[in-house]
Amino acid sequence: MFNIFLALSTYFIFRHTKGYSVSDLVIVSREEWQARPPKLVEPMPNPVPYVIIHHSYIPGACVTQEACVQAMQSMQRYHQDERGWNDIGYSFGVGGDNRAYTGRGWSAVGAHAPNYNNRSIGICVIGDWTVQLPPQSQMDVVKKLIDYGVQTGKIAPNYMLLGHRQVRDTECPGNAFYEEIKKWPHWIPNPPNDSVDQRPEQNLNSGASASII
Ligand SMILES: [Zn+2]
Repeated sequence: MFNIFLALSTYFIFRHTKGYSVSDLVIVSREEWQARPPKLVEPMPNPVPYVIIHHSYIPGACVTQEACVQAMQSMQRYHQDERGWNDIGYSFGVGGDNRAYTGRGWSAVGAHAPNYNNRSIGICVIGDWTVQLPPQSQMDVVKKLIDYGVQTGKIAPNYMLLGHRQVRDTECPGNAFYEEIKKWPHWIPNPPNDSVDQRPEQNLNSGASASII
């Protein structure tokens, strides 16, 4: 009996020290998905006024923890090695295993949406959502992650929610998912026409050709 108690305690301590848990929101730390170190971290001030929603397109949807970890690793490899960026571009990934994966996190400048990288949280909902919607449980994790960001002062309470396609020429986050996020709290049809942030890394992410991610 004591051993069972000990095992359960260890489990909960593990959950609370490695990747904290807020109600049933699980945020997976970089160590847990065995992220490579970033080449460089640019601090980003909080709270940020924007949340930008993406899909991964490739890799496709993941269901198991193992597959979602592999998806995060493959995106990081692609962004660091092929695109030449400092790290995986997104602030967070959300998998079909219903866990949120820490990418650049709450307080580092991202590489996911030109002109918005230094004032937004970019969330990649892993999968191709052109025709299909993500499962409801996966979308619920995105909403909980945003709520948690607001509660902890990382995202402004009056934040503006955008799909990636609203800020550059891309199909991201997929037609089906884009129609869905239009119904979410804080979505705005027209991003304000304000100052442009030009950084070399962001320019890499702002090519003229149309994109799907
Ligand atoms: Zn995108």
